[in-house]
Amino acid sequence: MRNVRAKRNETRGDGVREKEPRAHAKGHRDRQVEEVVHDPYMARSKPPEPALCPGCGVVYHRGRWQRAARPVKAHEHLCPACQRIKDRYPAGYVKLSGEFLGTHRDEIRHLVRNEEQREAEDHPLQRIMDITEEGGVTSVTTTDVHLARRIGEALHHAYQGKLDIKYSQDEYVVRVTWER
Ligand SMILES: [Zn+2]
Repeated sequence: MRNVRAKRNETRGDGVREKEPRAHAKGHRDRQVEEVVHDPYMARSKPPEPALCPGCGVVYHRGRWQRAARPVKAHEHLCPACQRIKDRYPAGYVKLSGEFLGTHRDEIRHLVRNEEQREAEDHPLQRIMDITEEGGVTSVTTTDVHLARRIGEALHHAYQGKLDIKYSQDEYVVRVTWER
């Protein structure tokens, strides 16, 4: 009973909850600007060689995931792209909107897919996860920040419009918006 009363008195007192402002202040202080941001999925994915991804068949050899002939004997290990797809954890978010998009939807979708395929051979971990439409906005998610940026730049190059690319400072995430 005493505890209950004590708690009531505390909240009735000054009514200020101190924990929240302190937590915010800490968040700001901890934020750091890093020029090179490493993909945590890539860092975690250093299997013994050679390794084969059971999801997509890429091979880990000489320290990198690549398209290669299937090794005779290989360790099975999900590649970073398949792991992100499995976790539903994109590295790139691309949002497309505007009137022009509404009237050129197929053409723009084609360009987006084309951008993925253009470098698929050299960069097999840069993949589109999903393309969804909602309320006139097309959302594209990618397994890699570079592909998201390239999609934005390709749209801007082909159709102009307004492009914005924002990298998060502490995570391996990029948010790209394009509007026309
Ligand atoms: Zn894979």
